[in-house]
Amino acid sequence: MNNYLFTPSAVYSLPVKGSDKRFPVKRIFCVGRNYHAHAIEMGRPVDKATGKPFYFLKDCSTLVDSGSTVPYPAGSANYHFEMELVVAIGAEGFRVQEADAEKLIYGYAAGLDMTRRDLQLVAREQGRPWDLGKNFEKSAVCTEIVPIGSLGVLKAGAINLQVNGVQKQSADINQLIWNIPELLADLSLYYHLQPGDLIYTGTPEGVGAVKSGDVITGHVDRVGDVRLTIGAAE
Ligand code: MN
Repeated sequence: MNNYLFTPSAVYSLPVKGSDKRFPVKRIFCVGRNYHAHAIEMGRPVDKATGKPFYFLKDCSTLVDSGSTVPYPAGSANYHFEMELVVAIGAEGFRVQEADAEKLIYGYAAGLDMTRRDLQLVAREQGRPWDLGKNFEKSAVCTEIVPIGSLGVLKAGAINLQVNGVQKQSADINQLIWNIPELLADLSLYYHLQPGDLIYTGTPEGVGAVKSGDVITGHVDRVGDVRLTIGAAE
């Protein structure tokens, strides 16, 4: 029994490879411009010597399982894929040292940071928040989580994406501008990282638009393969 006016939201969660347990998701952090070639294609090159990573968030309710079909989103005519390595946090951390970052990592996943690019760029040019472009329904696609096991802190590994079998993105995790320990150290200056937090670490170059009927497949070495089908517009 409860006295809620209506049924509360479900707990959003992801499967865990090799387990019948599920990973309950608390927050979804996303890193912007974390590969040089992508920063350049977006017209905003990054100088790590003077720059800092930046973040935006997606609501847990944006989460979609890999393998899903999602509608072409409302309000956009330029719906983009962004292939990303996702870090799943399994322990609390605040002001974490880079050397201790591994202790926070529960595991990894392969994700898509789906983006209404037209709306994001309007917001960017007008100095407004990115939510309409980034934080919309069914925009955070994620595979099952692979526990860290013997993987340790991922430093390298291929990351790539195809649309209808045609390669669009191909890069390596070793090209991250801010690597995983650097991201966890920086993000934990501003947030108390919590078990259940996901961090989408940024996309390489080659982002582009998809249309209804397209099938996106993506891969991160030793982590997994993500898949998304674009359905009809709502
Ligand atoms: Mn992204």
